[in-house]
Amino acid sequence: MALVNIHFLNLQNNYLFADIAKKVNAFKVMHPKADVISLGIGDVTQPLAPAVVEAMHKAADEMATAEGFHGYGPEQGYDFLREAILKNDFLPRGIHLDIDEVFINDGAKSDTGNFQELLHWDNFVGVTDPIYPVYIDSNVMIGRCGNYRDGRWTNVRYMPTTAENGFMPELPKGRPVDVIYLCYPNNPTGTVITKQELRKWVNYALKNDALILYDAAYQAYIRDPEIPHSIYEIRGARKCAVEFHSFSKTAGFTGVRCGYTIVPKDVSVSTFEDERIPLNQLWLRRQCTKFNGTSYISQRAAEAIYTPEGKKQIQATIDYYMDNAQRMLNRLRVLGYEVYGGENAPYIWMRTPDGMGSWQFFEALLYGANVVCTPGVGFGPSGEGYVRFTAFNSHEKTEEALNRIEAWSKK
Ligand SMILES: *Cc1c(COP(=O)(O)O)cnc(C)c1O
Repeated sequence: MALVNIHFLNLQNNYLFADIAKKVNAFKVMHPKADVISLGIGDVTQPLAPAVVEAMHKAADEMATAEGFHGYGPEQGYDFLREAILKNDFLPRGIHLDIDEVFINDGAKSDTGNFQELLHWDNFVGVTDPIYPVYIDSNVMIGRCGNYRDGRWTNVRYMPTTAENGFMPELPKGRPVDVIYLCYPNNPTGTVITKQELRKWVNYALKNDALILYDAAYQAYIRDPEIPHSIYEIRGARKCAVEFHSFSKTAGFTGVRCGYTIVPKDVSVSTFEDERIPLNQLWLRRQCTKFNGTSYISQRAAEAIYTPEGKKQIQATIDYYMDNAQRMLNRLRVLGYEVYGGENAPYIWMRTPDGMGSWQFFEALLYGANVVCTPGVGFGPSGEGYVRFTAFNSHEKTEEALNRIEAWSKK
């Protein structure tokens, strides 16, 4: 008899964006003529940079020849891309990593979801709340989170980040946390962490022999020169942190699929017998078994991001989105809304007016202004009373959405 992995049955039934889509579709059925603008899902809208497209064409042409054909590549990625990453994303910040510490992935979702496989099932997991749902759900699937009661998992330490604490999570008190997920710039709040605050987490991890899983998917959106782009800017982090990067938000790769994960050789975890096990070797072993590499064409495309033209072009698109974020912050503030984030990240986190629930505001905005936002509570219990807007739409649609929100708010 084939038995199911019962942990999957514990997953909360609906994925947030599926719920949203269902509600938006119900609205569209009732109002077929309405033109709904989505400031909801975190997908990008602008086309790929010309340098990236050129590299993809070139790679495709190579693949059409016997000499240029590439079959299975190295599981951890091609050296040309790993070298470009080290040279451009780390060396200028004074971070010296070895090429074997870079693992090319097919997007950060896979690796942020899969990395927990390397860890014993009863590690105690801590997450900032609200948070990208992948971190918790992937741990639920392996049975690490306990039971779901009143909107939370019994074996997860939620570390609230709200307006009340300036979106700075407090270090866990009481039972130490073994595995800590941090995401900065943050999805969904759009807020960032200073070096000083991040240092507290690194020190906590070193002191408690905890592992930090650091998601830097939005680092390219940082504008403030004081804000760290990588956790390895903090001394000691290479002993306790793994870092995930993605080209999805950096360069519009949501449909191309490429990113990378840094697993320093100094990061290790313990056995019950106090033997230290380096995660770099373990992750390599895991990847060689379960992953056959990111496509050659995607990796050539990613390499092109690091050329002088590529850099300029992707920066222009990031600036374009950040211009939306600025417009949203300005307009929503003038309308009297309490808004956060949006300065070093493409997300605006807004408190719902008059103590409205997240879903209640979501529906009111959908029906009143035909604009889609994401209910904050979908990202965790501390997201209740907030909604997220993304800056990934076009200028025109963003302006139009803001005009509608203004007209609706003034009613
Ligand atoms: C979008 C996003 C990712 C990246 O996903 P990909 O799989 O690389 O497309 C990772 N983490 C967070 C928090 C994200 O929002």
